[in-house]
Amino acid sequence: MALINEHFLKLPDNYLFADVAKKINAFRVQHPKAAVYSLGIGDVTQPLCPAVIEAMHKAVDEMGKEQSFRGYGPEQGYEFLREAILKNDFLPRGVHLDASEVFVNDGAKSDIGNFQELVRWDNTIAVTDPVYPVYVDSSAMIGRAGTFADGRWSNVIYLPCTAENNFVPQLPNQRVDIIYLCFPNNPTGTALTKKELRRWVNYAIKNDAIIFFDAAYEAYIRRDDIPHSIYEIKGARRVAVEFHSYSKTAGFTGIRCGYTIVPHEVTVATFSGERIPLNQLWNRRQTTKFNGASYISQRAAEAIYTPEGREQVRQTIDYYMQNADYMKDKLIAKGFEVYGGDNAPYLWMRTPGKMTSWRFFEQMLYNAHVVCTPGAGFGPSGEGYVRLTAFNTRKKIEQALEQIAKTY
Ligand SMILES: *Cc1c(COP(=O)(O)O)cnc(C)c1O
Repeated sequence: MALINEHFLKLPDNYLFADVAKKINAFRVQHPKAAVYSLGIGDVTQPLCPAVIEAMHKAVDEMGKEQSFRGYGPEQGYEFLREAILKNDFLPRGVHLDASEVFVNDGAKSDIGNFQELVRWDNTIAVTDPVYPVYVDSSAMIGRAGTFADGRWSNVIYLPCTAENNFVPQLPNQRVDIIYLCFPNNPTGTALTKKELRRWVNYAIKNDAIIFFDAAYEAYIRRDDIPHSIYEIKGARRVAVEFHSYSKTAGFTGIRCGYTIVPHEVTVATFSGERIPLNQLWNRRQTTKFNGASYISQRAAEAIYTPEGREQVRQTIDYYMQNADYMKDKLIAKGFEVYGGDNAPYLWMRTPGKMTSWRFFEQMLYNAHVVCTPGAGFGPSGEGYVRLTAFNTRKKIEQALEQIAKTY
């Protein structure tokens, strides 16, 4: 008899978006003729840019000829992409990394979860609240999160980010070993300035903690004082691992490619106090369990760094951010309390009249036919908020906003 990893039994039944989808389906069954406008999706909608398409076509043709066919690539990613990453994403910001610190992957989500297995289950973990569910659920799967009751995990330290603290998390008042930070943030759409993030780096140095920094929305930053990478902050390379993704940057949610930075200086300790580089452990793990991102995806990612690619990707990001600006203006004009959306494609909106997130979600769905994502699904401090995304066509967003204007 094979015994279950019982930590899986502690996970709440459903992933947030499955619950949302179920409720939308119920609405559709009852109102088969009604159009539904989605501001709920956390997925991009605009097609891949021409530079990427061209690179992928070329890569496919190479794979079709004996002389240029490629089988397994390096588990850590092809040199051409790792070099392009260093040259474009880090050097211009004064960050000097080595190619051996870059691990190309099939998207950030896998690595975000997989890093959990390099550190003992009984490390203490802190997450900002509300939070991208993957950090907490993947902690729970290996027994780090404790038990789940009333929307909280017993062994997770929640760092509330609410309008009251301007969505800037306070340093924990106890020592923690691992901290997940994501800025610009999903779901709140807010960001940290360099000064605010520096406090976290200093905390990690002082407390010998590791920061897992999720930079998935880095490309949406518009303000100069917001860091694109945690390594822009002095000392961060001793304490931080950073996750990047081409999903939101270049519409790669269906292509699957991203990368993780694991500086040589970041270490974890044995009981006897020996320090082991995380880079070495991660490399060992990846070469055993991962066989590399596809050649075609990596050529696609490389194309984003060409002059044409950069310009085309920028245009799509501008398109989404213009959506965000438009949504924010309209909603504020309607009297809603709206945050985020300035350096991220998400708006975080307070529900009117202290309504719960799910109640407001249903009201929006049934009265305005607009889909949002209930904030409570992202953690206890998300209660009383909903997330709206700018990832839709301008036309659909205008329609959704008209619907909201008619209802409220
Ligand atoms: C979308 C997203 C990612 C990226 O995931 P991929 O696996 O690269 O598609 C990572 N972190 C956050 C917070 C996200 O919203």
